[in-house]
Amino acid sequence: MTNQEIKNVIIIGSGPAGLTAAIYAGRAELKPLVIAGLKPGGQLMDTTEVENFPGFINGVMGPELMDNMSKQAERFGATILPENVESVDFSAKPFRVKTGKGEYLANSVIIATGAEANWLGLPGEQRLRGKGVSACATCDGFFFKGKEVAVIGGGDSAMEEANFLTRFANKVYIVHRRAEFKASKIMLKRAQNNPKISFVANVAVLDVLGENSVEGLKIKDNVSGVESVLPLQGVFLAIGHTPAAKIFATAGVETDAKGYIKVQNNTHTNIEGVFVAGDVNDPRYRQAVTAAGMGCMAALDVEKYLAEQEHEV
Ligand code: NDP
Repeated sequence: MTNQEIKNVIIIGSGPAGLTAAIYAGRAELKPLVIAGLKPGGQLMDTTEVENFPGFINGVMGPELMDNMSKQAERFGATILPENVESVDFSAKPFRVKTGKGEYLANSVIIATGAEANWLGLPGEQRLRGKGVSACATCDGFFFKGKEVAVIGGGDSAMEEANFLTRFANKVYIVHRRAEFKASKIMLKRAQNNPKISFVANVAVLDVLGENSVEGLKIKDNVSGVESVLPLQGVFLAIGHTPAAKIFATAGVETDAKGYIKVQNNTHTNIEGVFVAGDVNDPRYRQAVTAAGMGCMAALDVEKYLAEQEHEV
């Protein structure tokens, strides 16, 4: 059923980008509608302690941080709906956003749907997620002081995360499926020159071993077919991310070759009145604080855009 009220702004997504946008839009008295998804809160809901979000001396649990942001947005007049967006129509104003429950109209939209780390889909990987298996070295590396860990992947992220992890871990294996590396030469060289990093190339990862904590990585050499186990306590996936942008691309929002939404200037997309914030636009930094910063920027851009529209009428 279509809700006939035309909102100033609909924010799609409820991670740090979406909720920060909601706080700013709320304080600007735009009464934002946040369509939060069926699992509100974004990637931080899957993490334990967040130690690098400014303002928390002793860190904060990911779900608690998101719950606080959500209440802060509501305090300033945001309405947050736990619904999933199924399709959007940006071909004419007002924009239309359809969820499983209804259709909502708005003069502007902020897309803040984020991205998801890619996983290999191994049984042990799922079982040990948060118990030694992670997709974010920046978030969880600190917990591996004096341990041995593996980074899976052969791109710049794998090199960067492996280098970062050597600050804590005694030994870091870079485990890659091919003999050649996609990473840029400079990043590859830096990893090769790091005495704490060992390369295990041209192997398939068969499973992550351990019941309640990681005990090893089972691999198979692609040339000899020989299976072996690397004994270690942590596994970091760095095999890319997938931005949640498909339904917007279908509706005419421009994306890059990897599916990330492109910005034209600041936070504007190619469609006037449609803005973007957070990881759905950002393959590079992917931090809660950078996503939050962009959410703030998008809300300020929306505020300016709506004021300009009013002047034109
Ligand atoms: P990439 O897509 O560049 O690399 C992903 C890596 O994971 C590839 O080596 C790929 O293998 C491997 N991989 C993918 N799927 C699987 C799978 N199913 N099983 C095993 N291995 C798999 O992603 P990144 O996150 O590394 O980088 C994303 C972008 O961000 C890039 O443009 C990168 O340059 C940039 N970046 C830049 C940094 C910097 O400049 N400081 C730091 C980090 C990222 P294969 O090579 O065989 O396809």
